[in-house]
Amino acid sequence: MPDIDPEERRVRIAELLLRLRRVGITDQRVVSAIEAVPRDVFVEAETRSEAYAERALPIECGQTISAPVIVGMMTMALDPQVEDRILEIGTGSGYQAAVLAKLSSHVYTIDRFRTLVSTAESRFKTLRLDNITTAASDGTEGWPEHAPFDKIVVTAAADAVPQALFDQLRTGGILVAPVGPPSGVQQLKRFVRTEAGVKETILADVRFVPLIPGVAERL
Ligand code: SAH
Repeated sequence: MPDIDPEERRVRIAELLLRLRRVGITDQRVVSAIEAVPRDVFVEAETRSEAYAERALPIECGQTISAPVIVGMMTMALDPQVEDRILEIGTGSGYQAAVLAKLSSHVYTIDRFRTLVSTAESRFKTLRLDNITTAASDGTEGWPEHAPFDKIVVTAAADAVPQALFDQLRTGGILVAPVGPPSGVQQLKRFVRTEAGVKETILADVRFVPLIPGVAERL
């Protein structure tokens, strides 16, 4: 398993931070969190040399780790605060959860594939990220036992955000999710739950893997 040499990692991370700044991801806390999480730990050995490239990469179970700038954009849109409890739907590689864990008090992350959850868990252990709780379950139902959440991030696309997730967001909370057809271009949206209802803004056109209800039967 070819590990990235520490010097190369430093260079790749520095380049990544420049790209973030260029697209307006300037929130210093977000930039520092991305700087602190080695993205190469979250990809498969075969794609390790491309870990810092500006694109999504394939991971196990036919899923993907999002491109770095997308992770930066979603993280900044969530405006994570140190006391926040954040729910992530779609653990995937665990990278987004790791970045959020650097910025908040606790991250709860769910994936429908048990394999992805257990691989991500061992990465969190390696990096001593002890404020992340995982579950292999159906994210369309959220995680009612730990609700309400200050922030929710959905990293798989659906035509509409499941109502259960809005129900588990505290008033004043922020939810970020790709919304649109599973195999087409989706819009990354930011929702704020207010006393008067949910207010939304569109952030960017994106392509995410689909949000599929239910737990995966295999893996
Ligand atoms: N956040 C990830 C990227 C995840 S890709 C990262 O940083 O690497 C989207 C993930 O959503 C996939 O792993 C997929 O299995 C998961 N997913 C799709 N539908 C789901 C559902 N109903 N519940 C939980 N996870 C789901």
